[in-house]
Amino acid sequence: MLTALFGGTFDPIHYGHLRTAISLAQEVGLTQIVLLPNKIPPHKAQPEATTQQRLAMLALAIEDLPLFTVDTCEIVPSTVNRPSYTIDTLKQWRHKNGKTASLAFIMGQDSLLNLPSWYKWQSLLDYCHLIICQRPNYAARTDNVEFQQWIDKNRTTNIKNLHDSAQGCIYFSDTPLENISATQIRQKIKNQQSCEGLLPLKVWQYIHQQGLYQTKKI
Ligand code: ATP
Repeated sequence: MLTALFGGTFDPIHYGHLRTAISLAQEVGLTQIVLLPNKIPPHKAQPEATTQQRLAMLALAIEDLPLFTVDTCEIVPSTVNRPSYTIDTLKQWRHKNGKTASLAFIMGQDSLLNLPSWYKWQSLLDYCHLIICQRPNYAARTDNVEFQQWIDKNRTTNIKNLHDSAQGCIYFSDTPLENISATQIRQKIKNQQSCEGLLPLKVWQYIHQQGLYQTKKI
């Protein structure tokens, strides 16, 4: 079985994550997607919601979606005050599940373009495949020649390779473009604009009830 981890801040989780992941599951043949919320993302500003609030929103979002589970390994108390590095999570996963199980890490095109700033990024493929979902307004290729060569060298268009090998391939999915981001949602809430259709109703109600994302940053 090919296990797929989908890391993110999920501040908040939205249909850009959910719909993309659901169509990816159909395209690639995934029976389970593990959402992996991170605590202090090394490359991003701190989340506005607390860890508990982000977890509560994830739980509400996947309540009726058995495709998804949540793994809290990056936000357990022992990791407080230090960033969660994907490479460390992947190593831990391998330690638990062995060298031969197939593992993929899902990310959007924006995250791929940012990959060279990730800790030990070149070693990621030693532990997993990368599955890249296209995202509107992000370039399909990078100007970083060495990085593009690395992508081209490891790229596969054959889904079978993701299932038959444990790690090492980069696959670009054909999932539909979803023009939704958490930034856009937080901004809309600050501006008291509607977020209808951008995230599950239950998540929206929770945000409202908790008074999340309402304060404008000065
Ligand atoms: P923010 O706007 O705060 O940066 P985000 O909407 O990008 O947040 P994250 O939780 O940071 O959401 O994203 C987690 C992962 O999901 C990343 O790999 C990101 O590329 C991917 N992702 C987020 N939104 C989409 C989308 N609309 N389509 C495809 N992938 C997405």
